[in-house]
Formats: sequence, C-alpha cells, structure tokens
Amino acid sequence: ADDVALDPWGSATISDYRALFDEFGIEAFEDVLDGVPTPHSLMRRAIIFGHRDYRRVAAAMRNDEPFAALSGFMPTGDPHIGHKMVFDELIWHQQQGGDAYALIADLEAHSARGLDWAEIDEHAEDYLLSLLALGFDADEGELYRQSTNRELQDLAFELGIEANTSEFEAIYGFGGDTDVSHMQSVVTQMADILYPQLDAPKPTVIPVGPDQDPHVRFARDLAERTRYFKVTEAFASVAFDDDERPLVRAAYDARSQYAADTDQPRCTEAADWLAAEPAAADGVDAATAESVVQKLENAGMEPLRPRVRFFDRQATDEAFTALIDEIAGEKRVFEGHVDAFELSAETARDLALAVEVDHGGYGFVPPSSVYHRFMTGLTGGKMSSSEPASHISLLDDPETGADKVAAATTGGRDTAAEQRERGGEPDDCPVYELYAYLLAGDDDALAEEVYAECANGDRLCGGCKEQAADLMAQFLETHQENREAARDVLAELDIDLDS
Ligand code: SF4
Repeated sequence: ADDVALDPWGSATISDYRALFDEFGIEAFEDVLDGVPTPHSLMRRAIIFGHRDYRRVAAAMRNDEPFAALSGFMPTGDPHIGHKMVFDELIWHQQQGGDAYALIADLEAHSARGLDWAEIDEHAEDYLLSLLALGFDADEGELYRQSTNRELQDLAFELGIEANTSEFEAIYGFGGDTDVSHMQSVVTQMADILYPQLDAPKPTVIPVGPDQDPHVRFARDLAERTRYFKVTEAFASVAFDDDERPLVRAAYDARSQYAADTDQPRCTEAADWLAAEPAAADGVDAATAESVVQKLENAGMEPLRPRVRFFDRQATDEAFTALIDEIAGEKRVFEGHVDAFELSAETARDLALAVEVDHGGYGFVPPSSVYHRFMTGLTGGKMSSSEPASHISLLDDPETGADKVAAATTGGRDTAAEQRERGGEPDDCPVYELYAYLLAGDDDALAEEVYAECANGDRLCGGCKEQAADLMAQFLETHQENREAARDVLAELDIDLDS
C-alpha cells in the first residue's frame, strides 16, 4: 500500500476495463498523465483510467491554446455522487482554461426514457444547481438544453445526412421498431459532442464512463466525414485557371500523403476529382496562390485568410514551424513531414494549403474523451439512480447521507481480529471508493492514509465508516448551501426551465 494510486485492475469488475484497451483501442490514461500540467485527483488516482486522443487536449493546456470540454446530463432522476464526478471533471477542465459546455439532454430523456416534460424540467434544474454549486462558472461556460438550442438542431440535421439506419443498428442495436425520435436524439447527441467546435475547430474532451464510448466513436467518425465531404463539393464548384491548377494539385499531393499517413479514406473522393487535373507543381507565384486561396474561400472553405502570409515565397522554415504550432491536433503528422520533405518554403506553402483544404467542411477536430471507472453502489452492486440505497443523492439531507454511508457494505473481514491480522480490502470497498472519488478531495495524503491503514490492518471498518459518514454529511451540508446560493445565478441565465 505504499503506492497510493488505486490499482485499476485490482478487482474482477475492473479487470473488464482492460479489455477496452485491447478491443476498442482506448488508451491507458497513465500514458498521458505526465503531459497534463496539473492533473486532477481523479487522474492521479487512476479513477480516470483511459482516454482517446487526450494528448491534443493536454498539449492545448500546456501551450495555452484553445480547447473545450463538454458533458451532457440526462435529467431522469436526482443528481447523485456518481454524477458529481463528471461535474468535477468538467469544472476542472474549465479551470484549466478550457471552454466548458454542459447540456441537459432533455430530448434524449423524453424520447429514449419516456420522461414527461414536467419531470424533465424539475430534474434539469436540480442538475444545473448542483453543477453551479460545485463551481461551474456560467459566465465563462455555456449551459443549454437540447430542445431549445437552434444551432444544435441545425448541426444535428446536417450530421443526420451522414448517418444511416444500418449504422444505428450496428452501433446501438436499433431495429425496425426503434422510434424515429430516439434516432433523432442520437444525432442530437452527436451534435452536442461537436457543438463546441462550431465557432472554431479545437481539441474537445468529453468526460464519460466507458459505456458511452460508442457515442464517442460515432461522433469521431462523423467529425471525419463532415470534415471532408464538403471539400469535395466545394472543389467541384471552383473554376481554377490553368496557372492555378498546379498549386491545387501540389496541395492535394501533400494532402494525399497525409491521408495515407493517417488512414483517412474520405480524402480519396476529392483526390479522384483532382486526378483529372494537370500534374505539375512548379512555378506558382504568390499572386496565383493568393487567387487560389480567394477562390477556395469564396467556395466556403474557411478559415483560409490567416494562412495567406505563408504563401509568400520568402516564408521561412521557422515560419512554417510556427504554422505547425498553430494547427492544433495536426502537429504530430506534420512534424513528420518537415523531415520527410526537407522542408522548403514552397513545400511549406503547399502543406499550408493542404491543411486548410483539410479544414474545409466543418473542420471538426475528432473529439477526445476520458473514461472514468464507475463507482460501486453502496450496497455492493452497481450504483443505480433507481435504487436510492445504492447511491447518495446530492439532494439527500446530510443525516440521510451519513446513514447510507454507515449502512454501506465494506471490504472488511469477518472479525476485527482477522482484519487486524490480514488487513481489509480497500480495492473492493465502496467506502474506500467514497474517500478516493470524493471525500478526500484534493488531499492525496488522506486517500493514501485510508488505503494504507486499511490494507495494513490498522484501520477497522466501524471507525472508518464513521469518519466517512462525517465527511459526507459535511460535504452535503456545504453543497446544499451552495445550491441555494446558485438559485440566483441560475435564474439569471437564459435557460428555459419551464417547458
Ligand atoms: Fe473499507 Fe474502511 Fe473497512 Fe477498509 S477499513 S474495508 S476502507 S470500510
């Protein structure tokens, strides 16, 4: 027990998580932990155990570049301590400089869970109050509900053009009797995930439980599709002059190389169209490049303008390096190109254009995700919203919360004597989880102490639970005071909670 980090593979339930790495390509979080400037306690304690593409988010944090975090909450019951973990992750990303978005998945609750609108309104308010009470900065971040966000609906509609029913069947098991609104709520959820990038593409992290990974994968896929298909259309609509074609061609050669490196087959559509173009890349002057840029811009391939300076023939390799630094998320690939191409200003120019061509459609950066372990229910099994004894609601009064802790199952031995001799089993103890996930807060020493004392046999369950129950009661009391204080803030926000 010297090592305070929980062993993420320490119990049977947890060992299933390992399969996620092998089967679905989720990566271990510990591999990126060093790249996170000041990791959250859930990261340090390996409760956040996996990720997809979090490196680009961590890089944005380190380099003070834009990034975003988004979480959705389905208002089907009271918010509980399992949800608090996600609130905390979102708030932490906001505190690290990210644009934070929290949404109420009311369409999903209505279509997939059949809740009526009055229930949804009530639960939505409870979620938002807890989120604000825990520290979400509503002035800096954005809160919305799906049903009243017009931009979101438009994006969902566009994404729906790229999704089809066979995929719904393959990903979600939807069948012939799945209602259309449920499918609509899925494309809405895809739109939620990409929504933070509508203004400008940026790395975006979605903190979720591993059961939500199919959504993340589908959203990543849709990000890729909508990134390119419009480029093809736009290219087909642009009339290039003869002296401009070589530049476009060169850009696409670079683009194809990128496609091959990154295995993104969507590019081939546009490449096919361009294959009919004359293939000579030399002798393009800056004015021609400028005119190509202008035409692409007119065709809706934004944002090209900030890159134009790199079309100057005098652009230096340092300038190109700076450009690479500007292009969030593409760095690793293009750093490779710098060596491969023995970079010259001309190559830089071509690549710069190629990158911008990439960002033609919506230009979404495929969203990243982090995965947290599920809290075990206080009664042993799964923590479930529909079973009050299995969780502590953020609305439970402090006494009820303390009572639930006192009644929780533990990883303790049958007798005190045996516990002293063999030590308890903190890895299989819902009470230890309460310390690690919530009660110890940022205090690693406390989490470490509980773990070590338990495993060594220096700690018995009675006292351990009493301490946890006290801390829980304190937490609930403070939280509920903060919720009351948050009512004024919520009232001032432009969220319609009366549908
Ligand atoms: Fe769980 Fe505490 Fe008992 Fe250890 S001493 S098994 S951490 S309740």
